[in-house]
Amino acid sequence: MSPERYSRQTLLKEIGEEGQRKISAARAVVIGCGALGTHAASLLARAGVGRILIVDRDRVELSNLQRQTLFSEQDIGEPKASTAERMLKRVNSVIEITSTMTDVRADSVENLVDGATVVVDGTDNMETRFVVNDACVKLGIPWVYGGAVGTSGMVFPIVPTGPCLRCIFPTLPPTGQLPTCNTVGIVNSLPTVVASLEVTEALKVMLGQDTTPELLIIDVWHGDLQKIRVKRNPDCESCGKHHYYAYDR
Ligand SMILES: [Zn+2]
Repeated sequence: MSPERYSRQTLLKEIGEEGQRKISAARAVVIGCGALGTHAASLLARAGVGRILIVDRDRVELSNLQRQTLFSEQDIGEPKASTAERMLKRVNSVIEITSTMTDVRADSVENLVDGATVVVDGTDNMETRFVVNDACVKLGIPWVYGGAVGTSGMVFPIVPTGPCLRCIFPTLPPTGQLPTCNTVGIVNSLPTVVASLEVTEALKVMLGQDTTPELLIIDVWHGDLQKIRVKRNPDCESCGKHHYYAYDR
């Protein structure tokens, strides 16, 4: 690898040459390639993550272009996953980038995340996040939850020794109860911030550094940042009782 490509991050004491070798040896899986996923995949590819898998079931729509930065008008109607892969291969041709147009469900998720150093959440619904959470808890794979709607978003890093997403959200909310980008909209500067925080946590995982079990809640419009400490729930259906995929519909 050319030392110049990553020179600005190997200068960082948080990463360095040794850290760059770890990033190059890592495998990241990005589940969902919408606003969060395009930003996350882009940052991961530019950082030199050795192997990246992009998973998404959808095709590019005109309303995506406001915030999904890997797509252009020419891509409308094309699968998001392969379009993002093609774009990012132009950014970094020395790493392995693959993609799959797949619906993430209980029967497909383990194959997708198996062997990952870290999984990054780019999904837009809690049902898929619960599936990803359970697969990662079951297989002992770190993953980073991220969500963004309206002007506010959340980020939470999940590692095998700490609390999981279902320690925070024990049950799946009924379909249609939570606000989504389709119902309340989203300011396009928000996913950039949320995905950046997610990737920062994912880099820490790849570098073997500790993450903090804190739920970060950010509102970009009002400039608010809250941190809520999360404890492991011994009665958690996922990391406590190991009842995986019980809610999958
Ligand atoms: Zn849990």
